[in-house]
Amino acid sequence: MPRTYFVGGNFKMNPTTLEQKRVLVKTLNEATLDPQTEVVIAPPALYLISVLDLIRKDIKVAAQNCHAKASGAFTGEISATQLKDAGIPYVILGHSERRSLFHETSEIVAEKTRAALDQGLKVILCVGETLEERESGRTQQVVEAQLQTVIAVTKPEDWSHIVVAYEPVWAIGTGKVATSAQAQETHAETRKYLASAVSPAVAESTRIIYGGSVSGVNCNELTVQPDVDGFLVGGASLKPEFVNIINARK
Ligand code: PGA
Repeated sequence: MPRTYFVGGNFKMNPTTLEQKRVLVKTLNEATLDPQTEVVIAPPALYLISVLDLIRKDIKVAAQNCHAKASGAFTGEISATQLKDAGIPYVILGHSERRSLFHETSEIVAEKTRAALDQGLKVILCVGETLEERESGRTQQVVEAQLQTVIAVTKPEDWSHIVVAYEPVWAIGTGKVATSAQAQETHAETRKYLASAVSPAVAESTRIIYGGSVSGVNCNELTVQPDVDGFLVGGASLKPEFVNIINARK
């Protein structure tokens, strides 16, 4: 079975006004979108419920993070249990900004992933190497170590609820997109790793999407790579060109 193409929009801590959020939602609601593409947008937590109410029903909504515990004294946090109850179907976990700025280790990411899956949420699991790690030839080692902690707490059947986002840290928000050859190579190696560490069937069916300076222009070259199953888009998801990225395979 071909893997369903997947495009996620990670709004990060944007937009900054309710009016901008309204315009973003309106643009997507009025756009002609490829019905073959699964589209998920991740607004800030503050806007999750209103976006869920206002967005067209063929676009799904994701949180950008969650806490592993169901409830309790965790000031500022939102749990997978709360997301589930609010009707939010997806959560982004392990984004490099969470890993580097908020000190989330791969173990913490795995714990959150387990909690999200236990609540029936789907997870966009981000992995990726820094520039230094790439330059020292450790890309695959880093990606596999980040995946391994999640593999350790999951069963093969959990993987139908996980989308892997390969996001090289050096490409995020830098305008320095990975070449299509670099993306394809890492995606193919990562799929090979999933085949040996989880199962060949899981490797074949798991979407591995690319993230890092994806634009309405460079998406066309990346999208034809056989192991690139879509994108996780940051900056460009706030612009009208997000529609072009969603429709890249059209
Ligand atoms: P970018 O971000 O598209 O702005 O590089 C991607 C991401 O962080 O998911």
